[in-house]
Amino acid sequence: MSKIKVMSENLANKIAAGEVVEKISSVVKELCENSLDAHAKNINVSLIDGGLKSISVLDDGDGMDREDAKLAFSRHATSKLIRDDDLFFIDTLGFRGEALPSIASVSSITLKTCSKEIGSLIKIKGGKLLTEEDADALKGTSITVTDLFYNTPARLKYLKSEASELASCVTLIERLALSFPSVSFTLSNNEKVLIKTTGSDNLHKCIHEIYGLNVSSKMISIKASNDDFDIIGYICKPEILKSNKNHFITMVNDRVIKNYDVNRAINDAYYTYKPDTKFPIVVLKINTDPTLIDVNIHPTKQDIKLSKVNDLYDLIYKTIKDALYQSLLIPDAIKKPLYNEIKDDYVEQFIKEENTKNDEYKESNQVTFDLSYEEEKETPIIVNEELKNLILYPVGVALGTYIIAQNEEGVYLIDQHAAQERVNYEKYLEALKREEITTIGLLLPITIELSSSEFLIVKNNLDVLLNLGFKIEEFGVNTFVFKEHPTWLKQGYEEESIHKIIDILISNNGKFDRVKFNEHIAITLACKMSIKANMHISNEAVEELLKELVLCDNPYNCPHGRPTIIKFSIYDLERMFKRVMN
Ligand code: ZN
Ligand code: ZN
Repeated sequence: MSKIKVMSENLANKIAAGEVVEKISSVVKELCENSLDAHAKNINVSLIDGGLKSISVLDDGDGMDREDAKLAFSRHATSKLIRDDDLFFIDTLGFRGEALPSIASVSSITLKTCSKEIGSLIKIKGGKLLTEEDADALKGTSITVTDLFYNTPARLKYLKSEASELASCVTLIERLALSFPSVSFTLSNNEKVLIKTTGSDNLHKCIHEIYGLNVSSKMISIKASNDDFDIIGYICKPEILKSNKNHFITMVNDRVIKNYDVNRAINDAYYTYKPDTKFPIVVLKINTDPTLIDVNIHPTKQDIKLSKVNDLYDLIYKTIKDALYQSLLIPDAIKKPLYNEIKDDYVEQFIKEENTKNDEYKESNQVTFDLSYEEEKETPIIVNEELKNLILYPVGVALGTYIIAQNEEGVYLIDQHAAQERVNYEKYLEALKREEITTIGLLLPITIELSSSEFLIVKNNLDVLLNLGFKIEEFGVNTFVFKEHPTWLKQGYEEESIHKIIDILISNNGKFDRVKFNEHIAITLACKMSIKANMHISNEAVEELLKELVLCDNPYNCPHGRPTIIKFSIYDLERMFKRVMN
């Protein structure tokens, strides 16, 4: 007798379910994608206890006839998948055909659907058809999934808390809604509506419906193309930042995707516009020839590989950077009211929790510098005239730290350290980039004594210091003597600056990258050489600083991404003092 037994279809489904269905949101995702696939214009997701008790998805799509409805629960029933390489060409989302049978094999399902005159009501438990009967003829489909994983207790244990499962459903529906602004999505939990979009087919409106006025009023629209990619979307002003990258929403050819390089391009473009630990809200639609996409067909993964990814990186990086450069980014001191604070608090908290456990997003926060990008700077950038002409009239300094200034638009507070740090940073960076180096001889040469290991590192990288314009000689044991230095070193701080530069050289040992090195020097020296908080600054120095600040490429942030300036508009002030009443 043969010992080999054919694996039953139901067992195969249960195994598949383990792969396809990891959490509540994977069920919601499958059901919603089926709805989108059926051309639904309204998709209503209602959960009970975060979906742990029940998940219902109601749509007004094409619906199914009786045969299709039953077939939908058998494995590989899909008629949509034509060839493997069609996976990305076809505009249907539910291409796998395994999801429904898999979900059905580990839960109870009630399906009500109708495509023509007579509707069908089908009940399935553990993959077995329990009942089928006629139902009313309401076009569309409604599926309710209960008792998820009732027959696979090992999987059941993997489900997280209600709040945590709910948080990932919220993230999912936000992403779907932003990807399909022409479809109205509703998500509710225990009859409380958490997300509602109108399906207006207007991305900006959709952003408003999801994130509220405070965010939607701070979005900048972007659009650009190169030979292979068209990108269009919205990026947020740096005053709106989140604590994780969950709000990098990227789509390729209308499919929500994750791609490391796309995320890196977004993050790098905000370099010094934000602290390294904060992340913007960016909704980016990328369109390209499907042949440039390699879809990872694992059903739960959204990662895709792209050919010509460096070109795409450059396009995204440059477009966002230019958009930030051309926008007025002074944050208003007074925030607009939030649209849906309950949802926001609720979700942020648990997403944070999720992210510490989930290493998926644990990319290095460090900015990577793309040397090849430098050459592209040739293309003239439109100067933000409005900003360069901004005149700030100083009023005084508060708390020894914040410069108060005003003009016809309102009152400004400027952090004296952050502002000067920005001005110095751009000066240093500029000086370090210059081809021609002018140097000054030191009347009293500076001797620097190092440990033997440090001495060796510096000795091995001496050309780096020579290239910066230093004239150096060895001088006895583990000691160098500096005889000339570049002119941009701040007078009176030569020795301190040299020490700092040597520290950076030593800490960079092994992996030397000139752009990174210069960047590091510019940030470190800018901070060192800038007036600290609580230090007195003369009126003349204040005036000078404000003039220099507005001329910076990015006057809004210090090189660490902290704000330099915030604004109280006249309107905000009048509103606070109830001179105006709305
Ligand atoms: Zn600083
Ligand atoms: Zn700083």
